[in-house]
Amino acid sequence: MEDKLQLLKARMARISDLQRAAQLLRWDQETHMPPGGVQARAEQLGTLRGLAHELFTAEEMGQLLEDLAPYAEQLDYDSDEASLIRVMRREYAKAVRVPVTWVEENARATSLAHHSWAQAKATNQFRLFQPDLERVVDLQRQWTEFFAPVDNPYDPLLDKYEPGMNAEQVRAIFSGLKPELMALVEAIRERADTVDDSFLRRPLEAEKQLAFGRMVAARLGYDFSRGRLDTSAHPFTTGFGRDDVRITTLVDEHNFLRSLKSAIHEAGHALHGQNISPRLRRTGLDWGGGMAVGESQSRFYENVIGRSRPFWRHFFPQLQAFYAPHLDDISEEAFYRAVNKVQPSLIRVKADEVTYGLHIMLRFELEDELINGRLRVAELPEAWNARMETYLGLVPPTDTEGVLQDVHWSSGMFGYFPDYLLGSIFAVQLWDAMQKDLPDVTVQIAAGQFEGVLAWLREKVMQHGRKFTLPELAERATGQPLNWGPFATYLRDKFGEIYGF
Ligand code: ZN
Repeated sequence: MEDKLQLLKARMARISDLQRAAQLLRWDQETHMPPGGVQARAEQLGTLRGLAHELFTAEEMGQLLEDLAPYAEQLDYDSDEASLIRVMRREYAKAVRVPVTWVEENARATSLAHHSWAQAKATNQFRLFQPDLERVVDLQRQWTEFFAPVDNPYDPLLDKYEPGMNAEQVRAIFSGLKPELMALVEAIRERADTVDDSFLRRPLEAEKQLAFGRMVAARLGYDFSRGRLDTSAHPFTTGFGRDDVRITTLVDEHNFLRSLKSAIHEAGHALHGQNISPRLRRTGLDWGGGMAVGESQSRFYENVIGRSRPFWRHFFPQLQAFYAPHLDDISEEAFYRAVNKVQPSLIRVKADEVTYGLHIMLRFELEDELINGRLRVAELPEAWNARMETYLGLVPPTDTEGVLQDVHWSSGMFGYFPDYLLGSIFAVQLWDAMQKDLPDVTVQIAAGQFEGVLAWLREKVMQHGRKFTLPELAERATGQPLNWGPFATYLRDKFGEIYGF
């Protein structure tokens, strides 16, 4: 059995190398590739991903995993070996349902769709993107048919990013939380002018924004000898093993906080990647868990830490000095309140902690309808605008600020959006548990000491990579099942204090 385990590890290492090479091509596409490279790049990505898929779904792999199944049963469930066998058996069972022709076709289609999405967004012309998006949605619906029978075709899409979660569970969480969020938005709307954030729009040079982002990321523990920060239209994190985890951020000269928040968010992802156990190297388990687990780490750093009072107690004087004299007339308290201003807005990535969830619920509902055939791609802009009006009281004046704003659908990432909110919910559940284990954690943060936070997250979450599902990890890290209660309490307490209700 030891020999077979070694054979499995050797095969996973080759597959992992192919996937990392594809990720590197994708990183280059988003950061440095000239527009002319798009066609050839689509073909190269198709070939690499197709090869990885072929290797993983080979009959010998299935036999190997089947032979190892009884062996895994004898091992400790939480051990690296048992986890490798368990996770790869689950993924193999899923992957063999998908023909390699679909994988290659999807890689080509999404690469082209990504390109036309960028053009459509730049010129506010949804029709440029529509045919490619129709193709992508068709391919997603085809993909869900490989998993028939299912209660809801959206289930396998969710399960792809967050194993063990289905549409019913997500709907239950979201419908519990939705009235809480809408009540908060309403309470805050009446007191909207008590928080002034106009000074956040004072222009600041791109280079300074990036330099401050790099400094904060490094202070949080992001290791630049094993990473780098570049710019891209939509910030993301990618990695080629735990020792090369790269992030990007954007620059908005008229909103320096956007760049910083993105840098902190992606640094959170990257900290996760860099702190996975070295024992999991090249196993295919050496990446963040399900996507919600990944988002819990990025959103923990972005929101729970990065929009907290102790964080700005430490960093605000540095920010003031860095940008002098632009913020000389602003107090720490005024800055903290501005960073947390709640205001219904059009763009998800600019949203505050309260309205963010409503942006996600809108996308979840539209995706569910598209995949279930209750909504056509051509109707999407209108459906989007109608729901924006219901949830946030706003109608986007352009599709660029509406349905075209996010990159995800062009990449075929349906079923991913809910993970952002599940990640926020889990992040606060982790914060509750962390405060019990580290009673002085806010004092540490206010003193600019982030090692304790990182060590706790490394032990409870990060080191495990993809070993556990979100429900498994919630139990192990917090002793509780995933639940939205702590998140609702956190929002009520935090924003009640800021807005005075
Ligand atoms: Zn993220």
